[in-house]
Order: sequence, then structure tokens, then C-alpha cells
Amino acid sequence: MITSDIGFWVDNYVGTYQIIESEGKKYIASKEFHPARNGEAELKKKRLFMDLFKNNEYILIQLANVDTKDENSIVRFCNEYGLPYSSSKIDDERPGCYIMGLDVDERTYSSLYPLYRQDNMQVYEFKRHVVSAQRILNVKSELESQSINYENLFRFLLPMLLYERYGFYDFDADDPERCTETMKFQYYFLNVLNKVGDKTIRSLACELFGFVVETQAIGKGENKVYVTDELRSLFQNEYPNELYKFLVDLIRYDNGQINEIKINEFNELQLPEGFHLSVETKKHLDELASNILSDIISESLQRVHPIMMVDENGKIASKWDLKYLYEGILVETLVMASGDNNLKKCANPNCGKFFTPNPGRNDKIYCSHTCGINVAKRRQRMRDKENPNRERLEPGFRNR
Ligand SMILES: [Zn+2]
Repeated sequence: MITSDIGFWVDNYVGTYQIIESEGKKYIASKEFHPARNGEAELKKKRLFMDLFKNNEYILIQLANVDTKDENSIVRFCNEYGLPYSSSKIDDERPGCYIMGLDVDERTYSSLYPLYRQDNMQVYEFKRHVVSAQRILNVKSELESQSINYENLFRFLLPMLLYERYGFYDFDADDPERCTETMKFQYYFLNVLNKVGDKTIRSLACELFGFVVETQAIGKGENKVYVTDELRSLFQNEYPNELYKFLVDLIRYDNGQINEIKINEFNELQLPEGFHLSVETKKHLDELASNILSDIISESLQRVHPIMMVDENGKIASKWDLKYLYEGILVETLVMASGDNNLKKCANPNCGKFFTPNPGRNDKIYCSHTCGINVAKRRQRMRDKENPNRERLEPGFRNR
């Protein structure tokens, strides 16, 4: 593996963070400043990664384990690793004050961006990155599992296929190029959604149905929506047609249940009670899941590449051209997805955190000792409930 020889690191700004509101939006912002003035604390850099993966440790996993409902959990991650996209790093890359490309003076700039000297990121953006990391790890761990939980696989794979870059494109010539067939398909899906979808009330069933109806029309040569030649030619390949058939079958065989699925602002699916998938859909998942996962990872890796450089001894060396924490996390995703590490999801249903057990500890099913104890205690309570008069084993728990 190329990364094992070269290694990789990211020098990220890492401060102490708080969540504050500015202009009606929530931000994660550092207490330190960049640049600092008049005795303010200066934001400092920290070298991250440094081949953590060789010790079976991944910042990717730490990110996926952030509890997005708990602001303390968000701040804890940032205090350790900084922001996935540090605004102070972006400023270093492009010094000066710009508003939509226009050079402005600092006072004008600061009136529009009051946090501009603090390392900051919108909380919404941070959560979006967490959700993306969770999708990757959930899909990967289901695919590696001895007995796949298809409903769980579906819950994370479908948004990965359809919504990974939701809100990312403007559907004009400035949109970044799509490299993989999965992302080309998604671009097509989002394009149709953009034209015909209702953005105020989201409904997975309506979005799927609208897409299938439009695609049928294109198949018949009717032009109901604006479709480019790129999108039309996509369906000349086999794989995008398989993806389309998967969605058609989903409507055909799982219609009633699809109607009940809720979708939130991060495109996470909330499945109804007792949700189960048809045999047909499971078959599609078996055939498509690995390809979707690898395409989505490949697509984001387009931003990341190795470069040649001259090192401190004047020798030609190679390194990864990484500027932001999230780019390093993408390299970890590559290393993790292609390596034979052992990714596990904690068996405590109230936890569900990911972890990589150390070699020789592959039988470990809980992320921590605490989770193991909590599950044991819960089982004990259940048994007690079923049979309240049963003799307790420990003297301390004897019935009074
Ligand atoms: Zn746990």
C-alpha cells in the first residue's frame, strides 16, 4: 500500500472551540484568534494523523462516533483535531479579504463575517461531514458482516447513492466534474429533483417516483426535463441501468413502506417500525452495494493526490498534498476501505460506536468496558422484570 511507505500528515489549526450563534446561524468557533492582536490568544497548529492507521487508529472513526445531537461531543472532537475544513487554513491559502471574489477592506469584510479571525465552521456543515463518515462506516461494516442486516445497509446505502452531494451542485457549467458512474447517476437524480422536486416538504417516495417518471419519459424520447447529452449517454452503460432498475423495483415491491420513510435535512432515513425489505431489493443491494461504496470514496478522493517535493536534505521525496483535516480523513477512508482491518460496531444497541479491535482481540463486541457492563446490567434488569421473585445472585441486590 503506497500510503504505508510514504505516510501522511496534516498540519491543522486546533484551538479550543465553543458553539456560538452569528447572523442567525450556529457556528463552531475557536476562542483563539488568527491573527491574534492586542494580547489575544493565538490559534496554534497541530500535526495530525502521522500514520495513526498503522496503530489501528482512525480519525475517520472518531468523526463518525461524534453524537451530532450533543454539542459537547462536537466540541470534544474539535478540541482534539480541529475543524474538518478550517477557515483559518482557507485564509492562509488565500490571504486577503474577498466578498464573492471582490477585493474589499478589512472593515467591510468584518461587518459581513464577524468571526473571520476565529477558526470557524457552520455546525450544519460539520454535522454533514459526520453523517457522511457514518454512512461509509455503516455500509462497510454491513458488507463485511457474517450476516448482513439489509435494512441497516439500505438505510445508509440509499442516501449514499442518491444524496451524498445534495445541495452541492448548481447544475450549471461550473459544477465540478463527476468521475464515477455512481456520481454521474446521482448528479442526474439530483438534477431531476432540482427541476421537479418540492424542496419544502421532502418525501423519499415522491422523489423516487418523480425521478422514475422523468427517466421513463426520457427513455421514450420525450423531453420533460432539461437533460444534457452527458446524462442521456449515461444510460448507454449497464451499471447505471442497474441502479435505475433498483429504484424501479423499490417502488414496485416496497411501495407501502417507502411511503413511511422519513428523510431529514442531512438526508438521513428514518425507517418505520418493523421495516423489512423485499427479496428483490435485497438482491439489488447484494449486487450494487460494494460498487456504490467504492465509487463514492473514489469520487471524493479526486481532491487528494501525492506530489513530488524536495525535502530538507535536498533530496527528491514524495508526500501527500493534504491541506485540510477532511482530506486526511479521505486518505484514511481509502486505507481503511482497501485494507483488511477489522471494523466493528459496538453491540450495545444504545451505543453503536465504531471501533477497530487490536490484533488478537477480534472477538471483542463492545467498544468499551462500560458498554459491556451496561448491556450485562440491562440483561439482568430484564430477567428481574420477567421474574421479580427470583433469587438474586449478588447479596447486594437481594429483594427487601
Ligand atoms: Zn459502545
